[in-house]
Amino acid sequence: MAAAVIGVDLGGTNVRAAAVSRAGELLSAPVQHPSRAQDGFQATLQQIVQTIREAIDASGTPPAAIGMAVPGHIDAARGVVRWAPNFGEYKGEIFEVWREVPLADAVQQALNLPVVMGNDANLAALGEYYYGVGRGQARGLIMLTLGTGIGGGVVLTRAQVQGNAHWDGGVLLVGLGGGAGELGHTIINFAGPRCGCGARGCIEAYAKRDAITELAREAMRRNPDSVMSQLAAGDPAQISPALVSQAAEQGDPIALAIWHEIGTYLGVAIASFINIFNPEVIAIGGQIAKAGAPLFEAIHATVRDYALPTLLEECRIVPAERIEDAGILGGAALAWQHVNAQP
Ligand SMILES: [Zn+2]
Repeated sequence: MAAAVIGVDLGGTNVRAAAVSRAGELLSAPVQHPSRAQDGFQATLQQIVQTIREAIDASGTPPAAIGMAVPGHIDAARGVVRWAPNFGEYKGEIFEVWREVPLADAVQQALNLPVVMGNDANLAALGEYYYGVGRGQARGLIMLTLGTGIGGGVVLTRAQVQGNAHWDGGVLLVGLGGGAGELGHTIINFAGPRCGCGARGCIEAYAKRDAITELAREAMRRNPDSVMSQLAAGDPAQISPALVSQAAEQGDPIALAIWHEIGTYLGVAIASFINIFNPEVIAIGGQIAKAGAPLFEAIHATVRDYALPTLLEECRIVPAERIEDAGILGGAALAWQHVNAQP
């Protein structure tokens, strides 16, 4: 029986990979190289293949499959990156992003191993389902990944569908073309701030990293004597979500109010996720989830006001447990599903 798969986290800055056991343990420290995301497909492919080769060498075990977490619209069934705005190359002045790139086949041919892939935030949810707070048995898990943007993933189980569903464990909702689960673009105010996706009032527009930072800078201008302002030495450039958390830990009401506001926005959307999916677990991942209690208290208070009470009773809203290496673990979870599905 196979002892390892390789999980790959392809990011706009770095590509990371590690061998992962069936139980979700990293079998050696992740290997990391620059992804050369703006140097064209061949350059990035070479970086991916090299990183995977080194991860295989480091683990000393031949992997049964490779699972890749890729940011963008991924058609997993065809192994094609339909659109990935962080990847591409300059043709003169114009940056041509990846469109319809057959990435899975290219990696498979280079390594002669089965390759599966999916959207990074979707797979983070699958990894958290099997190796984190989902314990491989939660009756449905919805995950938000808070960071530069807000990613999402929906893991469904047999407990949440009616009819002839005979699968085991959790399966990802990917939709018709692989684009489902874009929970960060849940709209909570149709007249809200413009989002990077072109719409208005998405939770990403309200609660992405830059939005939190901007909110904090504005609060600092109005409250120059606050703990947060002192920690930033009055310099708006010093403000970050981590610094807001540091001030909140010291009881700064200005910083606490920021997390309250962010948690309220997220809570409104999470109430809708609870009403739509009736999941057992809502997991909040990404570095910004480390804001901890002030953020989660606001989320809990808001869902109490907005979610259907009987559905809320069955649901736990908790921090993700596998925030570091979420992409690698998600890729590995998908790869293990692929291996287990073989006759
Ligand atoms: Zn949006």
